Amino acid sequence: MLDDILDFSQDIRQRPVWQPTPPGVAQARAASLPEAPSELADVHQQFLTEILPYTCLNAHPAFMGWVQGGGTAVGMVADMLAAGLNANVGGRQQAPVELERQVCHWMRDLFGFPTTASGLFVTGTSMANLMAVLVARHQAAGPTVRQQGVPQTSGKLVAYTSSAAHGCVAQAMDLCGLGTDALRRMPVNARHQMDLAALEAQIEQDKAAGLTPFLVIGTAGSVDVGAVDELHAIARLAQAHGMWFHVDGAYGALGMLSPAIAPLLRGIEEADSIAFDFHKWGQVPYDAGFLLVRDGQAHQATFAAPAAYLRRECQGPSAGTLWPCDLGPDLSRGFRALKTWFTFKVYGSDRLGQVIAGTCELAQALAQRVRDEPRLELLAPVTLNIVCFRYRCAHPDQINAQLVLALQSSGVCLPSSTMVEGRFAIRAAIVNHRTTMADIDTLLQATLAEGDRLTMSRAAQGEQA
Ligand SMILES: *Cc1c(COP(=O)(O)O)cnc(C)c1O
Repeated sequence: MLDDILDFSQDIRQRPVWQPTPPGVAQARAASLPEAPSELADVHQQFLTEILPYTCLNAHPAFMGWVQGGGTAVGMVADMLAAGLNANVGGRQQAPVELERQVCHWMRDLFGFPTTASGLFVTGTSMANLMAVLVARHQAAGPTVRQQGVPQTSGKLVAYTSSAAHGCVAQAMDLCGLGTDALRRMPVNARHQMDLAALEAQIEQDKAAGLTPFLVIGTAGSVDVGAVDELHAIARLAQAHGMWFHVDGAYGALGMLSPAIAPLLRGIEEADSIAFDFHKWGQVPYDAGFLLVRDGQAHQATFAAPAAYLRRECQGPSAGTLWPCDLGPDLSRGFRALKTWFTFKVYGSDRLGQVIAGTCELAQALAQRVRDEPRLELLAPVTLNIVCFRYRCAHPDQINAQLVLALQSSGVCLPSSTMVEGRFAIRAAIVNHRTTMADIDTLLQATLAEGDRLTMSRAAQGEQA
């Protein structure tokens, strides 16, 4: 099994980035619960023929669809060790808990947070953002919010983010009981950053209406175009109005590992909390999200709950006062820290930073080729690693939508799409350490060929009509 999966990683370029599950294979999924045992080798064979080929390969160098990381062989075997240990990292006196704390200390130092900061591995930034909203809510509403819920009456809590924020920010407001109406989505400027004048005006208006602004969420690396909000200025506004400042840095925050990218993130070190993923730019295998909170006490006060069966002792396996389960909703937790620790130890943070900077250089090169090609048009400024562009033609929204689907179905490369200022865009997010200029060329050539084909067949159809 190890040989086969390593071969898969090595030969991944020869595979289609995506292909649909054929009907015959899909039918096999309907098989009922196996009562009798099978040979391990037979089940592995089934994995090789029925599962592996029909996986959307974000590990493929020509995958540029969504902001997804490539993973590494180091992370893979580390995760195998974690599975073998089968540690439950909810708590107790044990090395896996200490290792998670060590990764937290690394991140604390990377982001310039104080020694009193706390952090926790979670599934991903969607969960980390939700938890940050809960910590901010607890700070604003006070500890009684845990027994009484959110007060329905006076001083309703309101939060702020930009219209470019990820959908999980609104979802976090929904899930924590404040509701999405309590989230103000501010317009963005030409660089797709939150409009700070609009933000300030909205805060004043809400205060005058008797509402309580409690949280502002900045984005470091927006999901559609890769924009970075003016974090330092947001930090000052948050401080002036007594609001919690959270940064959704799902992929962008780890730009701190690159001396070339870190200056773009100025102000992130002033956040009250940062959510980010090791599984995106950090290249750690899924899943490995993280929440870092400046005030570790506030973090713990939001989630910790005493339980007789989780009693802490002065010594023995139940020693230790702060357990990971005190910092989030999960009790049983896997050992996500191990694959992350291995990745940092084996590659070193400099090299990971170089990979991050490299994806941004590829994005700039792609943007330049788009500018140089008369048949293509750039639709958004390129700050980090995401390029939004389209094929120039009549009916561009319709044609480009067909174009993206054709590329995705071809298995040759996999871009995605988004809307930029009401215009349909082909979106290439370059996150994977395996992606090279050859893959950028593949994307460009396939886009031009498909665009030419679609517009020509349309013209031919027009002639026939
Ligand atoms: C990917 C992403 C998320 C969601 O993170 P998950 O790890 O997929 O839960 C949130 N915000 C931004 C900006 C993202 O790019």
